Amino acid sequence: MAFNEKDFLKELETVVNIDSHSKMPEGTAKVAEYIEERLQKAGWLTEKISVGPEVGPCLKAVNKPCEKYDVMLIGHMDTVFPAGTAAQRPFAVKDGHFTGPGSADMKGGLMYMCSLAEYVAEENLDGSICLLFNSDEEISSVASRPVIEREAVKAANVLVLEPARASGALVNKRKGIVKYELTFNGIAAHAGVDPDKGASAINEFIRWGAEIIKLAAPEKGTTVNIGLVNGGTGANVVAEKAVCSIDIRITDIKEAERIDKKLKEMQAAPFDSRVKIDISGGLKRPPFNTTEASRKLCAVVDEAAAELGLALEWVATGGGSDGNFTSALGVPTVDGMGPIGGGAHSDREYGEVVSIVPRFNLLTAVVKKLVQK
Ligand SMILES: [Zn+2]
Repeated sequence: MAFNEKDFLKELETVVNIDSHSKMPEGTAKVAEYIEERLQKAGWLTEKISVGPEVGPCLKAVNKPCEKYDVMLIGHMDTVFPAGTAAQRPFAVKDGHFTGPGSADMKGGLMYMCSLAEYVAEENLDGSICLLFNSDEEISSVASRPVIEREAVKAANVLVLEPARASGALVNKRKGIVKYELTFNGIAAHAGVDPDKGASAINEFIRWGAEIIKLAAPEKGTTVNIGLVNGGTGANVVAEKAVCSIDIRITDIKEAERIDKKLKEMQAAPFDSRVKIDISGGLKRPPFNTTEASRKLCAVVDEAAAELGLALEWVATGGGSDGNFTSALGVPTVDGMGPIGGGAHSDREYGEVVSIVPRFNLLTAVVKKLVQK
């Protein structure tokens, strides 16, 4: 049956109303179950890939047995919302918006992938297409990354089905993400009786904090945020422990090395030598930059949009996606191929009903061009 808004919304309702937080393996597995059934019905070859006990399985589907893909589409089945969210504020359609946990980010994109599979089968499209669904994107795809990379290297192009920006723009550039957790281990003491016997983890953190802020380099696109700080047990106690979490965004991979080196140097020579600092973390997602090859893919998308009479814009964003991994492998990647949406990761999340049909038409037109090349 031809793609239409009404069926799409009904299918989307089914999956939005399944809670699937990244750390709810049974939830993402349920979404995978639903998708697999639809894909099999459309005649696709599916395979569930276990990526460890912490998260649900990945799901891979191909339209025929193949070693190389003309195009691979990626979508994540997990959301940032805990169990119970779907019951609290289930899927709804109102005032031209569809809402509910993960409705835009990115169950709308998942339903596009299912509909595309059905379209490919109905139209008997030639070429080889891989659909890859993972279950831990919202926690940096730590478990699924090897699967994504293994499949992406077989692909001539990658389309990421994250939502198009609220403005309707697609994404061809994303910042890389570096995350650290620093633990300062000092020596506790009474702040009044024998302060000298103590080595304050908080004092050490404050001095580090000043240096960490200076690691930002806006001219290179590097931003630094100390987003979480915890420490101490009371005003009259020299703090034994302090912990901080840092989020750094980069556009140049060399910046990750510069920052790592600086932190390790500071670790080797703390301001107060009695304080020991543990550093964990590092590069989570490499930057997704535009390359000559990815510009060609953008041109294919632009051409398809022009033929459909859609005006398209491209933007860069500081948020990461699985497109960061595929693009870092040199595979031309574009992102934001899902329905238009906004407010991701909040209860203001929504998708634009009016974008459902035109953006699906864009997706099928792009895929058609890529398999005919
Ligand atoms: Zn997403």
